[in-house]
Amino acid sequence: MLPVRGGDGRKLTVWGIRTTWSTVADGEFFCPGCGGDRNYRRRTGRRRFAVLGVPLLPRGTAGPVVECQACKERFDTDVLDHLTTTRFSAMLRDAVHTVTLAVLTAGGTASRSALEAAVTAVRGAGFQDCTEEQLEAVVDALATDEGRLGLYDGPECCGAALSIELHEALEPLAPHLAGPGRASLLLQGARIALADGPYIPAEREVLATVGAALHMGADEVTRLLSAVRAP
Ligand SMILES: [Zn+2]
Repeated sequence: MLPVRGGDGRKLTVWGIRTTWSTVADGEFFCPGCGGDRNYRRRTGRRRFAVLGVPLLPRGTAGPVVECQACKERFDTDVLDHLTTTRFSAMLRDAVHTVTLAVLTAGGTASRSALEAAVTAVRGAGFQDCTEEQLEAVVDALATDEGRLGLYDGPECCGAALSIELHEALEPLAPHLAGPGRASLLLQGARIALADGPYIPAEREVLATVGAALHMGADEVTRLLSAVRAP
């Protein structure tokens, strides 16, 4: 806008573009401006050519933009691609739980040390109430179910349903994890597998699926798996 001074010294705007914003949606996002989970408003604007503050001619639309309700800063809508801290934590917790169940299903629940390692991993991820009995019951149910549905080709083969579960839990998370985060998730699974002795082929297969779902290279997965020590 072009500002001039009015007779009383007040700044007047003679002409320029005025944008009026209206809210089309709201929700929660991670605000890169003030750094945390915040409420946002998704807004679109109507631009008008205004003379002396009076909107006259339409000049198209502006936005859409995402406006933080805390710091009022506006961002492009791709800011919504980032996960909120709450959502990220929940996805990570579910990922650890799924990896743990998959490794246990592949390796069996006969070993106390594998179950202990599994409970430690799942509790560490945020499911404080998890017990060995619970994990054992879920894994037994999974094994029975998959056997009944014929999803296992043999005892040494990773179940197809398990593989789908792993991809569903891990793939959406992969773009939001840096290298060490992906490795850490894989290594948690590896430690459970190693708790009752060296990897068996079914465990290796599950861990390879974990690596693939996390978009890790096969070579990197092999290198990490051979470097990890039993707990
Ligand atoms: Zn903000």
